[in-house]
Amino acid sequence: MIYLDNNATTQVAPEVFAAMEPYLKDAYGNPSSAHALGRRMRTAVDHARAQVAELLGANDTDEIAFTSCGSESDNWAIGGFVEQNPNRRHLITTRVEHEAVRNLCEHLAQIGCEVTWLEVDRNGELDLDDLRRALRRDTGLVSVMLANNETGVLFPIEAIGRIVRENSDAVFHVDGVQAVGKIPINLRAWPVDLFSVSGHKFHAPKGVGALYIRNGIKLPPFIIGGGQERGRRSGTEAVPNIVALGRACQLAHQFSEHQRISDLRDQLEDEILTRFPFARLNGVADRSKRLPNTSNISFEGLDGPEILRMLDDAGVCVSTGSACNAESRETSGVLRAMNVPYDLARGAIRFSLGRYNSAPETDQTLDALSETVARLVNTAL
Ligand code: PLP
Repeated sequence: MIYLDNNATTQVAPEVFAAMEPYLKDAYGNPSSAHALGRRMRTAVDHARAQVAELLGANDTDEIAFTSCGSESDNWAIGGFVEQNPNRRHLITTRVEHEAVRNLCEHLAQIGCEVTWLEVDRNGELDLDDLRRALRRDTGLVSVMLANNETGVLFPIEAIGRIVRENSDAVFHVDGVQAVGKIPINLRAWPVDLFSVSGHKFHAPKGVGALYIRNGIKLPPFIIGGGQERGRRSGTEAVPNIVALGRACQLAHQFSEHQRISDLRDQLEDEILTRFPFARLNGVADRSKRLPNTSNISFEGLDGPEILRMLDDAGVCVSTGSACNAESRETSGVLRAMNVPYDLARGAIRFSLGRYNSAPETDQTLDALSETVARLVNTAL
């Protein structure tokens, strides 16, 4: 199997599995227990928190709260802000956020918030003047993703944060789920208040995430109970998962092969765009403005789900876009927001590479793709 769907989820790294394994076996204590086993758990959780803080460039380990996934982090950040500040109901977000932000903001709009949706252009980029115009004195929160899960397009978070700071008192939330582990993050320097992380996108298991909460930003607890996570998210800590997230952060921090992955992606993308004259890149062509691992390419006139199925038969895992809408025949909301015409949008395939991919794999993918496309073109004739 060739796995080119790393934006959907990633393989648990062997180093991460080794780090968490003892906590699934003998080290089963509760971090709140006062005995030696409990204290060992507390130390493990604290260590993991420091590893997450280090990767994100946070000032203080207390700024990191563990959650169960990226969706929870997004929901806590935005929903929590609205609960905490019932009179600051103007929110700003973009049309291309992940469903965890988009659907939540739609829900909040239905229950009394006013949401301004920033549009993107054909390249998937924002016009920062739209943000300047949208910001008001009463704007409560701005939520903008760092990297788009479908196209890999990066939003200029530092510039956006500065505009938010200069033109409002709004809190700035960034969904960083697709960016962590793929590009450097520096929350010490960036004007960001809340930042969502999900472990399974960078080689930790599913079921663990984190929310960075800048010191001074007040959110109500996401879960009320025994007061874990300094009263911010109760429930006995999922120590094995938390240890895994910490180790995955350390692994990402030490990873030295970003250039290799980015070269592989570039070669795959270039080759597809030259081999198939009806292939079009979705997202800005300038690669410095995209994640180094992602290519979203439309095969004009062909059916994306059909390409996916045939590549799957050939042992190659890709996606048509968001993992969440793989079942529906509707074209991706992100591509619609980018005004990609239907005939292109329905033929979109996302290739997302990761640390375990190799050049022979991308070569095999190209061969399988050539066969698939030739068969589909022949059937269409
Ligand atoms: N935000 C982005 C940008 C994502 O890509 C995803 C998952 O695909 C999420 C949030 C949700 O993360 P999780 O699957 O951990 O809930």
